[in-house]
Amino acid sequence: MKSLRPTVLTADERALQRTVRNYLQERLPEGGYPIGLGISAAVDRDFTRDLAARGWIGMALPRQYGGGGRTAVERQIVVEELLTRGAPVGFHWVADRQTGPSILANGTEAQRSHYLPGIASGQFSFAIGMSEPDSGSDLASVRARAVPADDGWRLNGTKVWTSGADTATHILGLFRTSDERHGGLTQFIIERDTPGMIVSPIAFIDGTQHFCEVVFDDVLLPDSARLGDVGAGWGQNVGELALERGGVDRWISLMPVLERWVATIAPDDTLALTDLGRITARLRVFRGMSLSIARLVDEGESPVTEAALVKEMGTRFEQECIEIVRHHFGRSPRPDSSDTFESLLAQAILAGPSWTIRGGTTEILRSVIMKGLTAR
Ligand SMILES: Cc1cc2nc3c(=O)[nH]c(=O)nc-3n(C[C@H](O)[C@H](O)[C@H](O)COP(=O)(O)OP(=O)(O)OC[C@H]3O[C@@H](n4cnc5c(N)ncnc54)[C@H](O)[C@@H]3O)c2cc1C
Repeated sequence: MKSLRPTVLTADERALQRTVRNYLQERLPEGGYPIGLGISAAVDRDFTRDLAARGWIGMALPRQYGGGGRTAVERQIVVEELLTRGAPVGFHWVADRQTGPSILANGTEAQRSHYLPGIASGQFSFAIGMSEPDSGSDLASVRARAVPADDGWRLNGTKVWTSGADTATHILGLFRTSDERHGGLTQFIIERDTPGMIVSPIAFIDGTQHFCEVVFDDVLLPDSARLGDVGAGWGQNVGELALERGGVDRWISLMPVLERWVATIAPDDTLALTDLGRITARLRVFRGMSLSIARLVDEGESPVTEAALVKEMGTRFEQECIEIVRHHFGRSPRPDSSDTFESLLAQAILAGPSWTIRGGTTEILRSVIMKGLTAR
């Protein structure tokens, strides 16, 4: 693809990588933490606070708002190390990846000064309130409404599949403020315990409960809760998707399983070694793509099409890897096994099908890619 350019890490970036790797080896010893698969990670507020103290949350936010003033590439180096270990990043993940940058780009000065230091210090976390019972892929059809009331807004409607809404301190929600399909959508920042908001966890197939339904029943918000102009929600949302889809999280979820599988491969198992070689080669390509996207973000671009490509290819790759490892494992893995590799593999088999759905389905991403490529 024309805008994706081969890129390598600089000496300083490699040094950062080593620093993070060494820290995590000490901070997260084997058996000492719940290993997550990619962004389906455990919530551990102490761990989040520790990362924040090292400047590894909100890294690419400006220093004046409590951020690290570092680059998107440096942030990606840190998150690659975190997700490789299956670190418990669940509390701050969404805020760090996309809500912080969105508030920086679209917020008022008062919003930036309030929310960004809260995100960078690990105090504030965000859930994404986009999908509704009848609006998933066709997001422009959202029906939850915000109507003007008492110098502010009154919110009614239901959001669903809102990951982490039960642990997040805030939700960034997309609401209809007029009947215009795309131009009638506006984003609001909502504190989780606002009266009228009912958050109910939905059990996920692997037994976890990070999914939620969020009902808004006459929720009153001041106008200062509005993010961006009235009617600007659709465009802001699209900008967030470039951050949501192009990162390492779209191809790295299985790393804790792959690393443990590699340790079981016999030196003369040529079939397994051949599969491992193929997987390793493809991982390097995905890594190069995500790195290149991060460099584009650092240059001020919003690589929406490129990010869709990473997600479309990366999540299908992750699912293929599950099948390859499952084949070599040779029997049905048990989720309750005391062997970490076996239980993580079982967890991946259950969760894997959702990876090509969350953040936009494969079919929708293909449509985004096709439109992006033909528009050039
Ligand atoms: C693990 C997980 C976490 C999630 N977290 C969040 C979250 O935090 N916040 C949030 O807002 N949402 C979240 N979602 C919801 C997710 O964004 C939606 O599930 C997704 O956008 C698909 O919407 P849907 O489920 O309504 O399916 P539908 O839109 O009903 O689609 C059903 C099927 O039809 C296909 N389809 C639909 N339209 C077209 C089309 N035009 N052309 C071709 N095929 C089409 C789809 O590809 C899919 O296969 C999460 C989902 C999962 C699985």
